[in-house]
Amino acid sequence: MSNIKVSELFYSIQGEGRYLGVPSVFLRTFGCNFTCDGFGMPRGGTSIERMNVAFAHSNTPYKEYKELPLVSTGCDSYASWDPAFKDLSPVLTTDAIVNRIIEILPYNEWRDEHLVITGGEPLLGWQKQYPDLLNHLKMHGLKEITFETNGTQKLTSEFKSALKEWSKWYNREITFSVSAKLPCSGELWEDAIKPEVVCEYEQCGTAYLKFVIATEQDFADAECAIAAYRSAGFKGYVYLMPVGGVESIYSMNNKNVAMLAMKNGLRYSDRLQVPLFKNEWGT
Ligand code: SF4
Repeated sequence: MSNIKVSELFYSIQGEGRYLGVPSVFLRTFGCNFTCDGFGMPRGGTSIERMNVAFAHSNTPYKEYKELPLVSTGCDSYASWDPAFKDLSPVLTTDAIVNRIIEILPYNEWRDEHLVITGGEPLLGWQKQYPDLLNHLKMHGLKEITFETNGTQKLTSEFKSALKEWSKWYNREITFSVSAKLPCSGELWEDAIKPEVVCEYEQCGTAYLKFVIATEQDFADAECAIAAYRSAGFKGYVYLMPVGGVESIYSMNNKNVAMLAMKNGLRYSDRLQVPLFKNEWGT
């Protein structure tokens, strides 16, 4: 049996991308290779909201995710990778995770629901553990899995074999939702845009790209990135998604991003969790 450090495990509606609107279990693993402190900031700026929350947590600890403040700049799932919050993410056995998943499914078994493995960066440290989790007897009814990734982590050969087996033996649809990070995230282009890695995902399932857009400069950056992925052989769909972990910012630019997507023949992804649930933890 394997162990995974779990930040959140909850049942909700997928608010983004290919499975938008589908009832889904979200398994949020701990750890990420990025910080994305540039989101929502003027270009080159660094958000300090996360650091302020970390300082508050060191003085008067928050007891659970639900108590943590939402941030309007930087990474909106900061507690899933910042070591300052690691005490809120227990290490669970794959058995315990599976039992909890079955408990939160509406009929206590898999029917039409989809599993989203997210983070953090879920392909960073846990590829070895997923076979134990996803081959579990109680998970055999699961037919659709999405890995929400930043598209920088290569797949191990063991994990690639497992992915192929799931498609073949369980008829599972495997999706990689790749939220590639543009310079507005604060991450460096050479660290974040890895076309050869994403092309490899396409060999093991369906992969699509999703770019977070706030300004015209972001779209210009997205166009350069799309060209790089295409010239490496990437064939999947491309989505534009509005920036905005909080409703006031999201509603300022969702329509503009939708228009930009239409004008350029690209797909638009909403962030349904923002208008529906205010992007609260556990949604
Ligand atoms: S890659 Fe995703 S989880 Fe990691 S810091 Fe950036 S936005 Fe947050």
